[in-house]
Amino acid sequence: MILQLKKSTPEETINRLKKDHFARIVTKQDHIQAVTTKSTECVPEYVENYLIKSWHFDTDIQLASKSFEEKRVTSIGTVEIGNPNTMNFIAGPCSVESEEQIFTVAHSLVKLGIRSLRAGCYKPRTSPYSFMGMGKDGLKLLDQVRKETNLNIVTEVRDATHVDDVLDVADVVQIGAKSMYDHGILNACGTTDKTVMIKRGFGTTLKEFVQAAEFVLSAGNSNVILCERGIRTFETETRFTLDLCGVAFLKENCNLPIVVDPSHALGFRYGISDLSKAATAMGVDGLLIEAHPEPDKALSDSAQQIDLQQLSKLHSEINQLGLAVKLKLI
Ligand code: PEP
Ligand code: MN
Repeated sequence: MILQLKKSTPEETINRLKKDHFARIVTKQDHIQAVTTKSTECVPEYVENYLIKSWHFDTDIQLASKSFEEKRVTSIGTVEIGNPNTMNFIAGPCSVESEEQIFTVAHSLVKLGIRSLRAGCYKPRTSPYSFMGMGKDGLKLLDQVRKETNLNIVTEVRDATHVDDVLDVADVVQIGAKSMYDHGILNACGTTDKTVMIKRGFGTTLKEFVQAAEFVLSAGNSNVILCERGIRTFETETRFTLDLCGVAFLKENCNLPIVVDPSHALGFRYGISDLSKAATAMGVDGLLIEAHPEPDKALSDSAQQIDLQQLSKLHSEINQLGLAVKLKLI
């Protein structure tokens, strides 16, 4: 159940709600929002004088649900995401590796008219011996890129200790597939207004995926994007399996913008174009594509990154397909 209450609701009423299992109560701009999963059909009578509106749910998909709000439109820096007439094309290398590398990519994006650069500085890797990202030095480079090119910056947090550093630089904070259950990160991202993009864990059910978003939404941040990036199945020929059924479910049931990341799903560069076209035809809100000036030399996710010529070709193909399905690429 979600309650929207007047800002004049007395503290003792709020405290009573807390005791009544309204676990998440936050003050929004013009109301107080209280959410509980406790299944109850009745609004507590002691809040009736302060009630603006209430919603009843029998699942945990509440603030993210279409019956709460049909569709949320949020932003990636200077561009909108979630607008039914546009699709966001977000691209960049898996990791920031050097000044030359990130500026080469950034200038290519600007040339193509791509507005949003995605690159990681804190990489949550499977092996402790892999490249973990440039950390703060990488963030400094992204800050420089943003100032010099006006590109919107999407970058990842690996743990709650550097959320504030990332927030200083990023237009969108990415929570990776391996971090999406981390409550430290989810709660820290819930107490800012910055857009947060949550990537689906590879063993995460759709319900758990949306529950992670509910953590951020119920902590007060309304700006959440979901990113499908492939789940683990019995198949081993591809890195993961892009769950387009899951995307259809999210489109049907959730109000959050949906981004599809074919790069991590497939794990190889050969089919990125096909998967991007399939997702575009479905009418998703955005694509996230990994691209690197010299993919074979990339320090992370080398096999799946496309080079900048391939990126240019892909962008032009998706632009055309986007127009055919009435989506303007931004
Ligand atoms: C990434 O986006 O580079 C990344 C590590 O992805 P994921 O969290 O989906 O594995
Ligand atoms: Mn990657």
